[in-house]
Amino acid sequence: MKHQYFFKLLIIQYLSVVCLCASEDNFDFFYFVQQWPGSYCDTKQSCCYPKTGKPAADFGIHGLWPNYKDGSYPSNCDPDSVFDKSQISDLMSKLQKSWPTLACPSNEGFKFWSHEWIKHGTCSESVFDQHEYFEAGLKLKDKLNLLQILNNAGIKPDDKFYKLESIRDAIKEATGFTPGIHCNVDSSHNNQLLEIYTCVDTSGTEFIECPLLPKGRCASSVQFPKF
Ligand code: AMP
Repeated sequence: MKHQYFFKLLIIQYLSVVCLCASEDNFDFFYFVQQWPGSYCDTKQSCCYPKTGKPAADFGIHGLWPNYKDGSYPSNCDPDSVFDKSQISDLMSKLQKSWPTLACPSNEGFKFWSHEWIKHGTCSESVFDQHEYFEAGLKLKDKLNLLQILNNAGIKPDDKFYKLESIRDAIKEATGFTPGIHCNVDSSHNNQLLEIYTCVDTSGTEFIECPLLPKGRCASSVQFPKF
């Protein structure tokens, strides 16, 4: 009888350890973040075009970030993982086009992609390996053409100011989901449209309503700068 009791206790202890380990890399949803290069480059820090040339006048991917419903997020989840360029060689031209680096000094992009994989991607290793992670970001960008959506609503990168509400509404109308919007301030103190946050389920494929919208510091009217 006594033995049975200890055996049960052992099983319970074992299961709780297994559960803790299994849930270590879990997360609730992804933020898929796209960025307007014209705004990124207009901030005081400026920018450098990648070695492959000036990116297209289009939203670029910033990242695909595992997140928790309470607003916190896991980061740098696998200290053993290293970024391996050779795993994404087949995606190179797509990454250069859709996930361009704008950091200085000018480089090819590996530094930015490595940062995104190590900080955020490794926290999605229960779903994606490195190749799948970047492929998922590219597929999401293909699915969500923000420039087209805004264009259709008469919102264009022409240096004019647009109501934050109309930007949000245009994306909600087209996707069914409310986006989060981040702004920056340029050297002339203009509030500019910098990043658009959308939410994706844990499979990394389907857009969902954001469990939590990031707090954006945008004025009620924001500039959509030329690029
Ligand atoms: P994260 O750590 O993923 O939140 O991203 C923030 C870091 O990414 C900051 O150091 C930014 O300067 C950098 N960053 C954001 N966008 C870009 C970009 N297009 N190219 C290079 N670095 C970027």
